[in-house]
Amino acid sequence: MAKNPFAAGSVILSTSSFVNVLLPSEKGQRCDHCHRLSSLGSLKRCTGCVSFFYCDQTCRSQSMDWKFGHRKICKLYNAYTSSTAFQALEAHKKMDALLLSSLVAHLSSVDVKEWDETIPISTFLSLLCGPVEGSAPPICPRHTFDQTLVDGLYARFENNNFSIHSHFRKTYAHGIFPVASRLFNHSCMPNAAMKFIIQTHEPLKMQVVALRPISAGEEICVPYLDPALLQTRTAVFQLTYGFMCSCSSCKVVRKVGIIPEPPAEPAEFQNICWRLREFVKSMGTGTSPFLTGDSSIFPADLACVLHESFITILSDKFSAASFLHDGPYDDVVETSSTLVALYSLIYPPNYPQIGLHLLERAKSCWNHIVRSRPADNTAMLAADLEDAVASARSVLKVIGPEGDSNDGPIDELQTLTNVKNSI
Ligand SMILES: [Zn+2]
Ligand SMILES: [Zn+2]
Ligand SMILES: [Zn+2]
Repeated sequence: MAKNPFAAGSVILSTSSFVNVLLPSEKGQRCDHCHRLSSLGSLKRCTGCVSFFYCDQTCRSQSMDWKFGHRKICKLYNAYTSSTAFQALEAHKKMDALLLSSLVAHLSSVDVKEWDETIPISTFLSLLCGPVEGSAPPICPRHTFDQTLVDGLYARFENNNFSIHSHFRKTYAHGIFPVASRLFNHSCMPNAAMKFIIQTHEPLKMQVVALRPISAGEEICVPYLDPALLQTRTAVFQLTYGFMCSCSSCKVVRKVGIIPEPPAEPAEFQNICWRLREFVKSMGTGTSPFLTGDSSIFPADLACVLHESFITILSDKFSAASFLHDGPYDDVVETSSTLVALYSLIYPPNYPQIGLHLLERAKSCWNHIVRSRPADNTAMLAADLEDAVASARSVLKVIGPEGDSNDGPIDELQTLTNVKNSI
């Protein structure tokens, strides 16, 4: 619960990663300690295992990681990851096994007396276990740790660990943030969201940021998964997390009942898109039925827009018309306006995905300006570009930049602003 009010964009919590592990595809490209992205081949390998990479051998990244627990894993790491038992695990179980190994390595490198004082292990063990019981995967180092404790730690993995992303797009690691897991419940219409901060040589940080003004006494909720998974999310909550979501959005989805597929016939599909845009236009800001929980104002004939295939169809159409392909500009406008209408309905205000889509629209717009030059409609396209850039910026500035220091959505918006001024 918020003790004090928070303005939109305020950092509600800033907490360091307890333990994290890079995805295999990121190994050697990012520092294993601070996650800084480096040009190929410029990171220094740990000479013990040659499987961990750091910004510099003399820098704090490697020495901190060594003290933090790498020394317990280093010599055993390669034998462990090439073992039959590890290789037999599915990809996500491999990530769990590596994360559990790092967690155990960390705990065994700290005096047990310090556990509760210096590290949030009791916080982690106080979290709810996942609904599915499963035995812990084989870990490295072996034989050094109480198996009951290892199983207890692992039981909290599935429903408490985080996917770590950069620029709100790409997941590149998995991590444990016990304090954040402890503090925040889920909502499909969250008033806050997580982002990750990479700083050279520093442990990765998570920040929880207010997406809109939050009053004192209001519960602060974050999304555990993409709220746009309007059908599958209920099953994920039950099977992975063990709860039924009772947020305003889920109330409306339940009230709508069976969600039909969107019409296959093109004219009918277009009509639904138009009806959706008109409905969203008629709603005031902050009055989406999915936000207020008032299902009575949601038109029954629009139920099919809640079918997950609706977003897929629109996204495919947009991508075919966007800057990556040479589709007609009218298709960019039509599909993009429909997607923004849908996002304004099902996402809370200032949700990063809304801003990311507006950025894609701005990029498509710029591409059409370049390709159609000199053309009569350049002025119209320039006005569109201006509008898309301004709308994207007003959404994305609330949560701010995330992850890698270069080529993020806010940098792309700046580049578009610079080229736009050159028209
Ligand atoms: Zn580093
Ligand atoms: Zn090593
Ligand atoms: Zn919900």
